[in-house]
Amino acid sequence: MRKISVFLTILLVQMALTAQKTVSRPNNDKVICNCGTASNYAPDPKNMNFYPTKYVRVNVHFIDAKDTTLNFSEETGREYARMLIEGCNERLEHNLKMNIPANNDLPALPINFRYVISPCNSDDPEDDGIYFHQDDYLCYYNKTHSSRDYSLFSDKQFETYKKCGDEVLNIFLLEHHPDSIASPTYKTSADGVGKPHWVKIANSYHHYINNANQNLAETVGSIARLMNHEIGHSLGLAHTWSMEDGCPDTPKNRNCWYIDPADPGCDEWGEVSNNVMDYNAFQQAYTPCQLAKINYNFYREGAPQGKNLLNTWCSYKSDKKVIIEAGNEVDWCDIKYLEGDIIIEKDAFLTLHCKLSLPKGAQIYILPGGKLFLDNGSEITNICGDEWTGVTLFHTKKQKAVFEKTANSDLTHFANETKEIFLEKRALRKMLKELIH
Ligand SMILES: [Zn+2]
Repeated sequence: MRKISVFLTILLVQMALTAQKTVSRPNNDKVICNCGTASNYAPDPKNMNFYPTKYVRVNVHFIDAKDTTLNFSEETGREYARMLIEGCNERLEHNLKMNIPANNDLPALPINFRYVISPCNSDDPEDDGIYFHQDDYLCYYNKTHSSRDYSLFSDKQFETYKKCGDEVLNIFLLEHHPDSIASPTYKTSADGVGKPHWVKIANSYHHYINNANQNLAETVGSIARLMNHEIGHSLGLAHTWSMEDGCPDTPKNRNCWYIDPADPGCDEWGEVSNNVMDYNAFQQAYTPCQLAKINYNFYREGAPQGKNLLNTWCSYKSDKKVIIEAGNEVDWCDIKYLEGDIIIEKDAFLTLHCKLSLPKGAQIYILPGGKLFLDNGSEITNICGDEWTGVTLFHTKKQKAVFEKTANSDLTHFANETKEIFLEKRALRKMLKELIH
């Protein structure tokens, strides 16, 4: 009996594959994609469910001097760290349209990443991802002694105090040296550096005491902007005002801090950048190219940015369905790790060009008249050491679902490969109700 059903399944699959030979793209144009082209990774605002939110794991370190006068107390520091990360995330919720160049029509795409404070050892109730150290050398943010271990760009703080070094972005909250602050030529202001594995930010506590009347929310307001800039570096972005940052939509500019009627280069809003990677009073605009770069780094093989992500793609979520809506023709030219089922509706056409990972339990449902095509180099797999379920094709008497793949594409780590179900119209309607809602 088992043999017969295996035989029948093979026969049905064969029949479907034979039937697919007649399939062509509705517009007959072949889309050529390179999965290593960063611009393919910009989120599509009309289909944000194709881009599950990524969570960058961060932790926060306060380094105080041994006499504990330089930085926050543990109690206030913990509260500040949480408020700061929350404040950074709030800014990511509201991407701003670019001010420059004047009258540009660049969209402000939704930002599909957030930060999450992550303890290194989640089994340890004492570990909340916020750490306090006392160190008379490494507590300072030193702008001048560039050759010293404790200078601005030194890895020393990271090497000494890192937690989960290459799985979490380690954020160090440091302070300026009292001697520096005392110097009339030293600029005591919020400052920072961002590298792939760590970020240093200076001046939170000084601002809290001297400028913010010990108001944490006010301090967050001042520092969160800078933090997003430095994490922007960690995620792979460069400054935009003076250099080629690899993004055609971030024009070089005067790097005006704010509008200034006395400065002819900064006296109009079309001259004042609000981009996160310029120095300005806003730092809240991420261009499509910048978002594409960040997303590409999340997926790029060997890139440090992907290692810092919270793994959200190995557990199946019924509410993370991706629906290719009826009549739509969609090409995925980027690597994707999705978190739920994919449903290809009637007359919708999904073509995969790159790698797609689905979690254990996830299926691809192709409805009658829907089509799935795996182009050269594409693969549907499970990268978590489990098996995704497989492709289910629903046919009616009049319309077939179609699944076609080239010889150079692959289905791997699946439980069933393909399954075909023939349905009467009424049964199909009932099934659709269950599937889509
Ligand atoms: Zn910078």
